[in-house]
Amino acid sequence: MSKIKLNTITLPDLPYAIDALEPVISAETLKFHHSKHHKAYVENTARLIEGTDFEGEELLTVINRSAGDPAHAALFNNAAQVYNHSFYWQCMKPNGGGEPEGDLALRIEADFGGYEKFSETFIEAATTLFGSGWVWLVLHNSKLEILKTTNADTPIIYGHTPLLTVDVWEHAYYIDYRNRRPEYLRLWVEKLINWDFVNSNLG
Ligand code: MN
Repeated sequence: MSKIKLNTITLPDLPYAIDALEPVISAETLKFHHSKHHKAYVENTARLIEGTDFEGEELLTVINRSAGDPAHAALFNNAAQVYNHSFYWQCMKPNGGGEPEGDLALRIEADFGGYEKFSETFIEAATTLFGSGWVWLVLHNSKLEILKTTNADTPIIYGHTPLLTVDVWEHAYYIDYRNRRPEYLRLWVEKLINWDFVNSNLG
C-alpha cells in the first residue's frame, strides 16, 4: 500500500477499493465520504488560498498559519479537514483490527495497561464526543494519549504526533448505522484499524 501524502492540498486516491471495508463501512458511505466530503474540503481550501499569500504553501503550513485566527477560520476548517481525512483513510484496512504488535503493543501496555483498556477508553472517548469531531491516539511528551478534537480541529497544531484517528462526524457512519455511533466504533476498532500504519507513525 502506497502511503497517502499528508502535506499536499489534493484529493488522494483511497488506499483500497471502494467496497474493501464492507460490511463495516459500505461502499456508499465511503464513496460519499471520499468523493463528496473530502473532495469539497480540498476544493474549498484551494479556492480560499487562491490569490492570497497562502498560495503555494504546503498543507501543514496553511493549517498552522491559519489556526486560531478568526480571519482565516474557513480556511483552517477546510485545510485541517483535508489533512484529517487523508490521515483517517490510512488508519483503516480490510481485515484490520485485532491487537497491535511491536513497539506500539509495548507502549499500549505501559501507558494504558493493555489493549483491552486502550480500546475501551478509545471507544468511550469517541462515543461521548459531543457533536462532530475526531478521536485520536497521539504521542505527546513520549507518552500515548487519547485526544478528542471537535469539528476540524487537529492535533498537529498542538505539536502532538498523530498515530491513529477515527472520524465521528455523522457523515462517517450515518448511512450505515444511523444514530448507532457506538456500534460503528466497536466494529471499526475490532475489524478495521490498520496497526501497521499506526506503528509506522511512531517513526
Ligand atoms: Mn469525515
